[in-house]
Amino acid sequence: MSIILFDKLVFGPVYSRRLGISLGINLLPVDSKYCNFNCIYCECGWTKNGKKNKLILPKRSDLVKILSEKLQELRGTINEPDAITFAGNGEPTIHPDFAGIIDDTIAIRDKYSPHTVIGVLSNASMLHKQEVTEALKKVEKNILKLDTGIQSTFEMLNQSQGSLTIEKLFEQLVSFEGKLIIQTLFVRGNYNGHYIDNTTPEEINAWLPLVKKICPEYVMIYPIDRGTPVKELEKISEKELNQIAEKVKTKGIKTEVYF
Ligand code: SF4
Repeated sequence: MSIILFDKLVFGPVYSRRLGISLGINLLPVDSKYCNFNCIYCECGWTKNGKKNKLILPKRSDLVKILSEKLQELRGTINEPDAITFAGNGEPTIHPDFAGIIDDTIAIRDKYSPHTVIGVLSNASMLHKQEVTEALKKVEKNILKLDTGIQSTFEMLNQSQGSLTIEKLFEQLVSFEGKLIIQTLFVRGNYNGHYIDNTTPEEINAWLPLVKKICPEYVMIYPIDRGTPVKELEKISEKELNQIAEKVKTKGIKTEVYF
């Protein structure tokens, strides 16, 4: 299994486990990862966020041009995307023009591919910025990460680079009043002398009440799929993920397992 970086601003379309035929948008550098988390399972590898080189992020105007051309090219073909998905080499909401870019993307989608939904895969770290929260409310699939309800697990698993706490994250997720999708990756393994496992009864008993109060449209549950920077991580079985999903469903919340 290998680490993956996206070498383009607009990539694909690719088939996504979660979003169908998906045209990806990478608002991060095309040659390195940039994120304010450092998840031990990240398919883009470790976060280095080097200070030596100036961070070069794509221009809003370039996205308008490339996305418009791509959607026109795909229109009416079997690859016309089900979704335009902000993902890529790190956290998309870090881009300083994120809110404006969402507005541009909605306008371009409405013009060239009105049936395509817009999704953002985010770690939810920038929700303290009102313009980010408002932009996320405008997209059809606002997919926000919540891997655990326990602070110490959050620190080991997601390694937020700021002062974000689970308590703060939870408050911000609740503020969407249900207009969001929760994404949770389940994993276990050794890292840095610690055994991490967010599938234990203690973990589920902390995570599930938060999910219930957040009341998302649904919960996306998934395991690691490709390369991870920590080699000793175990892929959780489909059976175990389904058992967790059943617990979520007992709270009246829709859940999908993407194995
Ligand atoms: S938030 Fe996403 S991009 Fe950032 S480290 Fe975690 S998995 Fe990787």
